[in-house]
Amino acid sequence: MLDTAPNRPDLPAEIARRRTFAIISHPDAGKTTLTEKFLLFGGAIQMAGQVRAKGEARRTRSDFMQMEKDRGISVSASAMSFDFKTFRFNLVDTPGHSDFSEDTYRTLTAVDAAIMVIDGAKGVESQTQKLFEVCRMRDLPILTFCNKMDREARDTFEIIDEIQEMLAIHVTPASWPIGQGRDFLGCYDMLNDRLELMDRADRNRVAETIEIRGLNDPLLAEHIPADLLAQLRDEVEMARELLPTLDPAAVLEGHMTPIWFGSAINSFGVKELMEGIATYGPEPQPQSADSRQISPEETKVSGFVFKVQANMDPKHRDRVAFMRLASGHFRRGMKLTHVRSKKPMTVSAPVLFLASDRELAEEAWAGDIIGIPNHGQLRIGDTLTEGEMLRVTGIPSFAPELLQSVRATDPMKGKHLEKALMQFAEEGAAKVFKPAIGSGFVVGVVGALQFEVLASRIEMEYGIPVRFEPSQFTSARWVDGDRQAVEKFTDSNKQHIAHDHDGDIVYLTRLQWDIDRIERDHPEVTLKATKEMM
Ligand code: GDP
Repeated sequence: MLDTAPNRPDLPAEIARRRTFAIISHPDAGKTTLTEKFLLFGGAIQMAGQVRAKGEARRTRSDFMQMEKDRGISVSASAMSFDFKTFRFNLVDTPGHSDFSEDTYRTLTAVDAAIMVIDGAKGVESQTQKLFEVCRMRDLPILTFCNKMDREARDTFEIIDEIQEMLAIHVTPASWPIGQGRDFLGCYDMLNDRLELMDRADRNRVAETIEIRGLNDPLLAEHIPADLLAQLRDEVEMARELLPTLDPAAVLEGHMTPIWFGSAINSFGVKELMEGIATYGPEPQPQSADSRQISPEETKVSGFVFKVQANMDPKHRDRVAFMRLASGHFRRGMKLTHVRSKKPMTVSAPVLFLASDRELAEEAWAGDIIGIPNHGQLRIGDTLTEGEMLRVTGIPSFAPELLQSVRATDPMKGKHLEKALMQFAEEGAAKVFKPAIGSGFVVGVVGALQFEVLASRIEMEYGIPVRFEPSQFTSARWVDGDRQAVEKFTDSNKQHIAHDHDGDIVYLTRLQWDIDRIERDHPEVTLKATKEMM
């Protein structure tokens, strides 16, 4: 049996066996297929929970989902839990499209590791690289899966070199492919001295494993044609000479990534990858907070909201807040303190997105993700505790890169529009700014596609047709400084000032030059491109 947390013998067993991770990849590399296979091997039959199933049934009819489908992107993230051997895996789904990078960033604050999936023929693609950089900012451990080895792929050394060079991370082969494309037979498991042979006849069957003793074992010739075997021996010898060997500590620090080769659609290499996640983990990690770090084994429960999904059912304006448990053992019905408002909150109907038909979370442990239905009290960045005034840090809000003004096509619906916009702002789907002068709103997003998604959601979920129009502004910065200085600054720059949905002061401008000028002429205030969510 695998030791669940060899570096942390003091962790309660339930926490030590948890692995909370996300998959990062470029669209089409195989993330969805790999997720399905995880669930298959996790003994799960059904994806996600009832909540998600309901939401999707409704949205399938909508233009919004149609748009999602047409473009092959997944806009909303959710979480799934399943068991593998003695482990509990929590997989947090990240939206794949670059236009949703802020959402992705926040999702990655809720995980302890990431699986990077690359296409064996395409190598490191643009979106992989962007997401990788986000993981690096948090020093997340990364395990790599090189997919689609059943198709023509690049040379193995070339793939490894490309990852090392483009991402500046050491790569160590956990497995080595034998042949490729039509000749792909399987892999030599470099960590366990095993041969894994792919079954082409049955895509859902786990590969046959043959224990061997080194690459000179005569057993190999029974399974591998002579030319491929000679090539395998050469390549592995070279790999052992040229590439670093696996150093678990370096993996945990995010300086080294082990790579597995496989074919998700053929279920090949997936089990080995899952064993890798179990072995190299890591177990739930401490969480930075103000005014002290939170350790997972603390007996008191704490957690933070990293995602809010609103309007899963448009008839009831309820929302689900996704909370990552940072510490303790949570039980249904617990009374927690909502730190931002200092109010108590009884969590009576938490949802665990177990990949079976269980719905209510009777209990959860540090590392788990639970969904908390609520009416808008819970926002991204909120911390819940058993009373201590702790605030989890590191969940940023980025200044949007694109701004547009929005108005209702029917002017009578202006007030309703404000409500709808505020809800989306709280959900984190967009930034909404109310200029100090004039009426109307300025909406900010990271990618242009978000305007379209918003427009169709506002129409669908609130029945308000809207128009987005070019705004006179192109950038937004949060204004920071002592109260008097900020007041003086806003008074003399009224035409540029707006408030975000939290009431924080924002400076809207059209030119980078303008921002530079203020930094020079008004040293008493700071213009910030990010703000911590709280
Ligand atoms: P995602 O966009 O990253 O979620 O990718 P998908 O899982 O949807 O896969 C994209 C396409 O690649 C689909 O047509 C899959 O059937 C296909 N695919 C996934 N894994 C493999 C594989 O191992 N081999 C081959 N040949 N195709 C695959």
